[in-house]
Amino acid sequence: MKLRMVSAAAAAALALSLTATACGSDNGNKSSSGGGDKTITVGIKFDQPGIGLKTPDGKYTGLDVDVATYVAKQLGYKPGDIEWKEAKSADRETLLQRGDVNYIVASYSITPERQKKVDFAGPYLLAHQDVLVRADDNSIKKPQDLNNKKLCSVTGSTSAQNVKTKIAPNAQLQEYGGYSECLTGLENKVIDALTTDDAILAGYAAQKEFQGRFRLGGFKLSNENYGIGVKKGSDLKAKINTALEKMVKDGSWDAYVKKNLGPAGYKNEPAPKIGVIVS
Ligand code: GLU
Repeated sequence: MKLRMVSAAAAAALALSLTATACGSDNGNKSSSGGGDKTITVGIKFDQPGIGLKTPDGKYTGLDVDVATYVAKQLGYKPGDIEWKEAKSADRETLLQRGDVNYIVASYSITPERQKKVDFAGPYLLAHQDVLVRADDNSIKKPQDLNNKKLCSVTGSTSAQNVKTKIAPNAQLQEYGGYSECLTGLENKVIDALTTDDAILAGYAAQKEFQGRFRLGGFKLSNENYGIGVKKGSDLKAKINTALEKMVKDGSWDAYVKKNLGPAGYKNEPAPKIGVIVS
């Protein structure tokens, strides 16, 4: 595994953030205006159990929700001050660029392409791309077996991109808007396999209604460094990095990972070092 330092980008962001601070802008475009009601808007996934989930009774759960809530607290916002907004994979950069959200914690991998449009704090989790197949399907034993199979992933994700460029260029890739739609397809045998990060797939496989019906390939097809997306040049990046350092140091990171990913039997990597991307 190679480590890539992002200190140059961090320095550039800091320089930009100083300018932003001088202008009195704290959160990019998005700020509570005038009325005194202090809120912060955070983008998360709504359909990823263990990571980011909106439950039928309107609650929000998962590692990303806990991380986002911790960060908000360090920024001076109570849990009740947070407005949660769905951030689908293909929408994330736009949501940040338009200032529709203050930051995004949504299984959001740090990549050079995305860094051209937005900035990332973190990383706060290292996951790996994998596949989910039906438990009784023994035809997919290695990544190459995915060629000619109906493989589902999500538009705008690194998972879909990796299939096309390296993992299985001859797979019949179907790109949906969200992973839960792929899961339905897998259940109904419309597709043969669902590919995305193992941390997400473990959460699906562990759902009560699916127990014993799906299995992970265990392929470790990529390194996915989860970051917290902010608007390019925002001073939030440095502040969020400080919050993340604290979160790891005070034991909250361990507790959140155990609580959210433990029940699915997910074997997590150790806490990443802030500013260091594993490529
Ligand atoms: N972590 C990958 C990505 O950022 C896949 C998961 C997702 O789509 O949220 O694209």
